[in-house]
Amino acid sequence: MFWNTGQDAAMVAFLRDAARLARMVRDELAPESLTKEDRSPVTVADFAVQALAGLRLGAAYPGVPVVGEENSAPLKGPGGAESLKQVVEYVRRFEERASARRVCEWIDRGGAAPGGRFWVLDPVDGTKGFLRGGQYAVSLGLVEDGVVTVGGLACPALGLDGEPGNGVLTLARRGKGAFIVPLDAPEFCRPIRVSPCADPRRAVLLRSFESGHTNVDRIEALIRHLGMKNPPVPMDSQAKYAMVAAGYGEIILRMPSPDAPDYREKIWDHAGGVVVLEEAGGRVTDIEGKPYDFTRGRRLEANTGLLASNGAVHDAVLEAIRRTA
Ligand code: AMP
Ligand code: MG
Repeated sequence: MFWNTGQDAAMVAFLRDAARLARMVRDELAPESLTKEDRSPVTVADFAVQALAGLRLGAAYPGVPVVGEENSAPLKGPGGAESLKQVVEYVRRFEERASARRVCEWIDRGGAAPGGRFWVLDPVDGTKGFLRGGQYAVSLGLVEDGVVTVGGLACPALGLDGEPGNGVLTLARRGKGAFIVPLDAPEFCRPIRVSPCADPRRAVLLRSFESGHTNVDRIEALIRHLGMKNPPVPMDSQAKYAMVAAGYGEIILRMPSPDAPDYREKIWDHAGGVVVLEEAGGRVTDIEGKPYDFTRGRRLEANTGLLASNGAVHDAVLEAIRRTA
């Protein structure tokens, strides 16, 4: 495995602890909040994972900035004190030096501007899935001159078989392949590879669980146009990238939602997933076939939507997107 020697080990150790942390918050805080429509568990998990990233990545990769989704302002503002206290408690399970001041400082290490060489972090991707008991992911990727060169997805609620389970990491380095490791059995590790299916009619398509994040009607039209036999699988978060990388499905499609036609994808919603899927043999473009351009800041300004696939069906799906526009 590429991370057994050298610096990548720190990245993998971070992802493993981040997944454990997120799962603890989820198991301990989310069940009771659901009945109250209270989003505080995801807030606590988001901030605690980003604090751990600021600390661990800052120490292991000095000089490499972190671009994370969060900043500490909400924790310092009115009403933030209770969340901050919980964030500190969770970070302290992994780092005894955690204090309110230090945790805010670690979180804000994630406030860097993208450029050159930088980490991209989504501390909890798929917040709706996190709260609902669906899939969610910690996503991390290192961008170097516009290319995601190393990264991974920690999926605490996904199993090795692609069903809900006890958690997996998927990890990749450019040119070294992609791997899957169970969270609870780090000694078991195997390479992953996309499915060979080249017939879109037999392909499985994964889409956002939240219908407001995509254009469900256009996806249905595309499924009919391609004559796909399998119903689309709704799933939250970049766990979808892990699924296709491991051969459990062939297509991920996100069409701009009619509610937000000008929405631009965020770099942290894709960086970790892109390197894992491409190293497993897959392909990632926007819905016009353009490669993702990670040089345009925090948003993928040059791209619209997402088509990720096992590669073999990619051109056929792009053609169908054009024809059903
Ligand atoms: P998914 O679970 O695939 O829907 O992806 C979750 C991500 O979708 C979140 O992290 C958000 O950043 C992103 N998101 C939020 N609103 C939208 C939207 N209107 N269109 C596309 N993506 C969105
Ligand atoms: Mg996200």
